[in-house]
Formats: sequence, C-alpha cells, structure tokens
Amino acid sequence: MPRTLPQLRKYSVAELRGIGPRKQEALLALEVQTVLDLLTLYPRRYIDRSNEATIASLRPGDQATLLVTVKRAGVRRARNGRPIVEVDVADASGRVRLTFFNQPWRAKQLQEGAEVAVFGKLDSFRGKLQITNPVVDLVGDRTGRIVPIYPQSQTEGLMTWEIAGWVEEALARAGEFADPLPREWRSKLGLADRTWAFRQVHVPDSVDDAYSARRRLAFDELLRLQVLLVRRKRMLEQASVGIRHVVDGTLIPSFIASLPYSLTAAQQRAIDELMADMAGPHPMHRLLQGDVGAGKTVCAVAALLTSVQGGHQGAFLAPTEVLAEQHAVNVRALVSGLTVGGANLFGERPVKVELLTGRTAAGDRARITASLATGEVDILVGTHALFTESVEFHDLGAAVVDEQHRFGVEQRDVLRTRGAGGAVPDVLVMTATPIPRTAAMTVYGDLDVTVLDELPPGRTPISTVWARGEDLAEQAAWQQVRDEVAAGRQAYVVCPLVEESERVQAKSATAEFERLAAGELAGLSLGLLHGQLPAREKEAAMDAFRRGETQVLVATTVIEVGVDVPNATVMVILDADRFGIAQLHQLRGRVGRGADRSWCYLLGAATTPDGEERLLALERTTDGFELAEVDLDIRGEGTILGARQKGRNDLKLASLRRDRPLVERAREVAFDLVGDGSGLAAHPLLEAEVDDLIVDEDYLFKS
Ligand code: ADP
Ligand code: MG
Repeated sequence: MPRTLPQLRKYSVAELRGIGPRKQEALLALEVQTVLDLLTLYPRRYIDRSNEATIASLRPGDQATLLVTVKRAGVRRARNGRPIVEVDVADASGRVRLTFFNQPWRAKQLQEGAEVAVFGKLDSFRGKLQITNPVVDLVGDRTGRIVPIYPQSQTEGLMTWEIAGWVEEALARAGEFADPLPREWRSKLGLADRTWAFRQVHVPDSVDDAYSARRRLAFDELLRLQVLLVRRKRMLEQASVGIRHVVDGTLIPSFIASLPYSLTAAQQRAIDELMADMAGPHPMHRLLQGDVGAGKTVCAVAALLTSVQGGHQGAFLAPTEVLAEQHAVNVRALVSGLTVGGANLFGERPVKVELLTGRTAAGDRARITASLATGEVDILVGTHALFTESVEFHDLGAAVVDEQHRFGVEQRDVLRTRGAGGAVPDVLVMTATPIPRTAAMTVYGDLDVTVLDELPPGRTPISTVWARGEDLAEQAAWQQVRDEVAAGRQAYVVCPLVEESERVQAKSATAEFERLAAGELAGLSLGLLHGQLPAREKEAAMDAFRRGETQVLVATTVIEVGVDVPNATVMVILDADRFGIAQLHQLRGRVGRGADRSWCYLLGAATTPDGEERLLALERTTDGFELAEVDLDIRGEGTILGARQKGRNDLKLASLRRDRPLVERAREVAFDLVGDGSGLAAHPLLEAEVDDLIVDEDYLFKS
C-alpha cells in the first residue's frame, strides 16, 4: 500500500538508524519529531558538484560556491580581544583562507579533513586571498552529484550530511507515496508525481529535477490550505439560512439615478455581484477591495439599500468613531430624497439613518436603540465596538464592515447572529488597503472577492517626487508648498514616524511645527495635529484646516485615514524612508481629492536598499495594488500572514510571493474538488491530509 502523509506522521524519527536521544533532541530543535517532519525538512539549497568553481579560477571580488577540504584551523585574538578563526581550505586547484570574526565555534566545527561547501566573496587582505565570514556547510563524504544542504543544522550540532542520510533511509522505508491529486489535474498542471517529487527534492538527479519536485510539493501545501478555506466557505454557506433579498425593486435604480455621476464599470460590476449574492439563498460573505477614492461607499450603500428595500435593516460599521461619523455624513447625503414603504410597518417614508458611537449622548442612545428594535431605523452607522455590545436590531438584513485591518472572523460571527428568525445577514467587508491577489486568496480565502480596479474619471493624478535627501530638491518642495498656499490651496506636512511612543512622536511633531513656522514656512498659518492632543483640540485643528483657516497642517500619521479636504494639494512627508509602503500610500491619498493637480514630496535619503526600493516605487506608481505587490516582494509573506500564522502554518516550501501562479491554480483545484461542499467525499486522501496536517486551523481565521 502506498504511504499517506498522515501515516508517516505516526512514526518517530527515533525509529531511524543512527538517531539516538541526543540526535533526537537536536532534531527537535528543528521541529522535527516524526518521519513526516523529516521528509518535509527540505534542503535550503543544492550544490551541484559538476559545476563548482575552483579556487584557482577565482579573482578578488568574485562570489562563488567552493567545495573544499579543511587543512588547518586556528584561533587568534584581534587587538580588541575578539577571537578570529582562520581556516585554510583547499581543493585540487589551490588553497585559500577563510576568516571568521566573532564565531569562535568555527574552530571546532571545521576540523582538519572535513569536507565543506563554502559560499562567499573572495577578497584580498595584505596581499593574501581570503574569504571573510562565508556561509559554510559541512557536506561530509557524499557521493551524489547534487548535494542537498539542510537548514540550520550546524547550530544544532547536526551535519547536513547526517540529515541527508536519515532522509534517504526514510525515503527507502516509505517506498511509494499515495497521491491525493487526481491524475487529470496533475497532467493539466504539469505537476510531477508525489513519490518522484519527495525523492527528487532530497536526492535530485539534476537541479532542474529538484525544482520540478519543489513545485509539486509546494503545490500540495497550497492546495491543502485552499481546500481548508474553500471547505469552510462552503460549510458556512450550507449551514446557514440566508435572506433572499428583493433585488428587482425600485429603490436601487432610484438611488443610482440620484447620483450626480454615473457609476464606473467596476462599481457597476461590484454592485451586480453583491446583488446576485444577496438574492441567493446563502448569506453573502464578500470582500470589496478598492484603493482609496475608488468609490466603495456607493457600493456599500447599494448593499444596505437592497436590504432596506425588502423591509430589512442595514448596518455600516467603521473601525473608529471619526470614520463612523464621516460615513454617517456620506450615507445620509447619498440616501437623502429616497423613500421606503409598503414592505414595513411605517408606510412610505424617507430612509432613516442613525449614528451610534461611544460619543453618542445617553439620551440619544436610548432613543436610537429603541427605534432600532422596532425597525424604525433603516440604516445604523456605528463602530465595530458596538457590535460586541447588545445592540438589538428588529431585523438586520445586511452589514457592511469597513475595516482598517482585518475584521476578525469572531466579529463576523457575532454579526451572523444578529438577523431575525435565525436568518444570517449578508456581510460585505470593505478594505482600502490593497493586498495582492494571491495574498487575498489566503488571508481572505473564505470570502468571495470583488476588486474595484478603476478610479472614477476626472481625478488628476498626484505627482510624487522623492527628493533623495538633496538640499535643492527639498527646497523646491517647500517652494511648492508656498506657491500652492499663495494660490489659495492647502498643504499637509507629515512628521517623521517615531517608534518609541506616542508622547515622543507628539514632541517631535511639535518641534517640527516650531521649526517650520520659524523657517521654511514662516509667515504661513500653520496648524498642529497629533495623537496626544485632547479630543477637542484635535477636532478644532481639523475644523480650522477644513475651513481653510490654517493653510498648512503639520501632523503625525493621525491623518492617515478619513481626512478629506479636497482643497489640500500638496503633501510633504518628512523622513519618508521610515514609513512602510502601505502607509505612505494611505498618507498620499489625502491629497489629489479635488479637481486640482496635486503633489506629494518624499523627503530624506534612503537608509537601506529596501527603503530606496519603496520610495522609488511610490514615485513610479499611484496604483495601490501594484504597490502592494512591491511590498510583498520586499517584505515577504510573513508580514501579510503575520508572524504567528507563518510559524504555525504548513507552508514550508511554498511562498505567497514566489509562487503566485501556483496559489491561483491551487485555489482553482480546491474549488473543483470541494465542489458544493460534498466533493471531498470522493477525495478521502486529500481530506485526511487537510485534517491531519493543518493542525491548528483556527489560526487562519483569527485576526
Ligand atoms: P473610497 O471609500 O473607495 O475611498 P469614496 O466612496 O469615498 O471612495 O469615493 C471617493 C469620492 O469619489 C467621493 O467623493 C465620491 O463622491 C466620488 N465618486 C464615487 N464614485 C464616483 C463615480 N462613479 N464618478 C465620480 N465620482 C465618484
Ligand atoms: Mg442572500
């Protein structure tokens, strides 16, 4: 019988030859306990013996991998007392010295006669050739042409060749692997068979084979994850009764006709998609992604009105009070003049919108909650926090959740209990933080996704200039601020990000404010806004800026979300290098909101190559999705999945960054195999793997 992965997880590595208690403990430090763990401890890289550089062929400055034998190792002390390990190594062509600073243990590791792979850059020091602090792997006396190098082995006192030996034994004893992927999909996607893949990833015949093997095994990881997500999605759908909303009424057409503009094609598509969801028997569970200014609010209101049209209520939840207030203003403006009637108790009357936040006075609160319970209120706008309290709806039909960060599944679950008569309300989650497609498929894998990938027409693009820390370019930025203000427009100055604390941040903003008032922006009317100000002063500062009384607002990142002053056309971001891509993009979105041309100046030099890449990307594009892809490239997927999730998931080979096409294929296959939810019954091997290998599925669904 071919082996399944869950079976291999039942055997301890202690059953392999040469693994006693000491080795077992060392392996444990690499999180290897079972034979399956060992087989999924994949080589970090491979050394192709037929293709190695030789010492004699290298010149100073060359970077190469060398396969060499240790001739002599010694330690000496630098003048400051720090140990320097010097190791002479040789191949058939010559000799070279390896120099290690602050790694005294190297002397013990690299004993005479050891065969090692050395990766580093050749330099010359006082006329002698050497390689400083190279990456070194003990390869031992291996015979294969391609030598696998296992991760982190040396720090645990394990040799990479020892691991290779155990892996080979495990492979031999495992024999043939059962393959959960149907043959048709395998051939359609050009994926290798699993038995071959496990062998070739560890003991490859060629580097190409190692990559094909890797691709197959990475696909398996992604498929398990997607099957889990798609299965959860189907289960949620099957397990709950949704509301079949009325979608052919007159309210939505009147609403759309009342807008002072026509919808973009993307908005129309989004509204069609969410109305189709809402008409259906299952509760909607959709994510609406769209860059700042893409026009999500109209789509959200269309969902709420669809609910209202059938006599149900709608809820609009924002992450902060300020945003809830702003949404309330927008929603009221959008629905003004619209009426509902017939289907509910109150006859033909205007659509009623109420706002409920922590700031609502007690009396108003009592009145609003009472009329919410009778159904007199059609749309409630509030903060997320409200929904953890007991706000009673008469009949909640749909909720829109505007999120800054991820609105947790627990919170979404609370919403699901708020419908009338056991029916689950439809949920639309909106986010203005674009995340790459493949990441969305994972982070939001249990949702359907709509992307608003088109901005309303008539936006003037924002010109972004990174001054690169050059004095002249920075002076030009301040000149632009003065020119725009002189022309009657306004500007933001964003203070450097200070990590220490809110207090330090506020102090530095105040200092910046004073410096500018006496320097570059002398004579202009400046406002100051930071998180340490009392709420009343914050509001006063914002109001003065909105009314145009202050010409320049010097602020910390508190202006990142929700501030909307179309007359502001310039933003200067100080020490831009300290901010992340997403944050810079959000900040920049505060300008370019009116008809006038806008500018964003990024000041300060880059202090790291990553910083330079970030700032160049911002200069190049204003497309949030493109920037999100760049961010994923720079930072890797850990930041998207979160460190906790990354550590605990079963993605050992696959990367959301490198393997984007594979993620999409895996999702496609998962949809095909899971079908309407019952499909996995025909794929018991896959189902067992998903249940067994993804140990803690909860982590995926927590914010
Ligand atoms: P988002 O919430 O996606 O950041 P909003 O919904 O706040 O964007 O819309 C941004 C601005 O664009 C608003 O002032 C809105 O009135 C306007 N707007 C939305 N849709 C359109 C459209 N189709 N044509 C023109 N302007 C639009
Ligand atoms: Mg529905």
